[in-house]
Amino acid sequence: MAAVQLERVRKVYPDGFVAVEEASFEVADGELLVLVGPSGCGKSTLLRMIAGLEAVSAGTLRIGERVVNDMAPKDRDIAMVFQSYALYPHMTVAENLAFGLKLRGHDRATVAARVDDAARLLELEALLQRRPAALSGGQRQRVALGRALVRQPQVFLLDEPLSNLDAKLRMSMRVEIARLHRRLGATMVYVTHDQIEAMTLGQRIVVLDRGRIQQIDAPMALYERPANLFVATFLGSPAMNVLRGTLVREDGPALRLDEGARLPLPAGDVPEARFGTRVDLGIRPEHLLRGGDGEADATEGHVEVFAPAVDVVEPVGNEVFVNMTLGTHALVARLPPGELPEPGTALPLRAARGRLHFFDPESGRRLD
Ligand code: ATP
Repeated sequence: MAAVQLERVRKVYPDGFVAVEEASFEVADGELLVLVGPSGCGKSTLLRMIAGLEAVSAGTLRIGERVVNDMAPKDRDIAMVFQSYALYPHMTVAENLAFGLKLRGHDRATVAARVDDAARLLELEALLQRRPAALSGGQRQRVALGRALVRQPQVFLLDEPLSNLDAKLRMSMRVEIARLHRRLGATMVYVTHDQIEAMTLGQRIVVLDRGRIQQIDAPMALYERPANLFVATFLGSPAMNVLRGTLVREDGPALRLDEGARLPLPAGDVPEARFGTRVDLGIRPEHLLRGGDGEADATEGHVEVFAPAVDVVEPVGNEVFVNMTLGTHALVARLPPGELPEPGTALPLRAARGRLHFFDPESGRRLD
């Protein structure tokens, strides 16, 4: 296996469009790194540059010790798995798995052994004689993975490999990919627009927006300390609540929203120097807690309760999303399954201690 290193890598398409601004990061040997971001952020372009399918406009790209900027894809010792499985329809699963190896001139015994290994690892043994048309979407995707696996490449590149599968299958394939990564100890770069996939699969995640790297970190570090508003609102579902206003000290610390409503905040959670300044305040839906419960209020220490108006209540089984308005501002809370507040009523809530995020309203950057 090998590390992948990008040093100020840029991509400018022939029409002058800058798809990737200087990107610098390293995928460690054996690491599963996820590139995530909304459509058009440049994640596929980055992956395709690593694969050699797009030229690097500037900067240095290394795989292992070698600079590969000008190296042909076939010489890079990488294998790529695409969203469209790209299987050969007229070949059986076994032939699909063997094809790339035969093309590269491996002998029959090696080909047979590697196909067997991949089939066992991906539980494809019973399907080896079928053609792709006779496979389910999940089985096809396993064959596509198998085709990469038999190559025993230094680096696996996966471009939205699960996005053609239904939600349930996606979840089980996600676990299979994680398991595969653990067993192989392979270096993998995984592209997705799905934040859940990124959070569950990535050992580290690169968050991209409009061609720029926004933050690189371990999943929970990104979730708990997002570097800016983009990362804060991109990761997490429902998304983080963001309220713009001025931090004030009126009967205790609070955010005075621009349209006048007041959101009381836990004492001690607002840095002294912030009072009087304008901020975008972020609170995750799970950090809006049911207030007015004496016992919990006492354990948490007193935090003043506020009461937004309940709008739409969405029970999803193991939790309830409660959509509300505070003044004219929309808010959402994630409450335990027993809670079913009536639309139209006021719901007493308080902000959890130590969970506030402050961002600069101009630049969107995290303030600490
Ligand atoms: P998606 O998830 O929709 O595939 P992405 O994050 O993978 O999005 P890219 O495919 O990397 O995005 O594209 C990044 C940007 O570069 C997009 O705005 C796209 O329109 C642009 N782009 C891609 N290919 C070309 C090209 N050949 N010429 C000009 N612009 C391009």
